[in-house]
Amino acid sequence: MTVLDNVKSLVEKFFTTNGDFWVIRKSRSDLNIEKCNGVAVKDEKVNACELCVALNETIFKVYNKPEYFHTNCKCEYIPTSLVDIVLDFPIEKITRYLFANINKSKMMKTMGYLIQDSDDMYNLILKA
Ligand SMILES: [Zn+2]
Repeated sequence: MTVLDNVKSLVEKFFTTNGDFWVIRKSRSDLNIEKCNGVAVKDEKVNACELCVALNETIFKVYNKPEYFHTNCKCEYIPTSLVDIVLDFPIEKITRYLFANINKSKMMKTMGYLIQDSDDMYNLILKA
């Protein structure tokens, strides 16, 4: 992060309302869920547990970030902007989860959505 990035983050932090800003979780580990191909593993080199590796370099709204820190955890949250982010949102999260899981599927039906609406649902969530 450059000095300019830090200044931008601080400005965003202080001029957004209700603490509504983005933070990125940083571990001392070089690993993250993407580098581990979706299965996080403990990083013995820096003593980061699997969950810290899984959460590493993930962006959250500040009010919705996981408050997980193990003993001697060195992870931290740093204000950030949504630039150069990778959206991990395959259509299967709609077709093979939202409309496959019986409870979620029922919930979707009560809201008026059926599996035939997967593309519309995907686009709505993608836009949000
Ligand atoms: Zn940690």
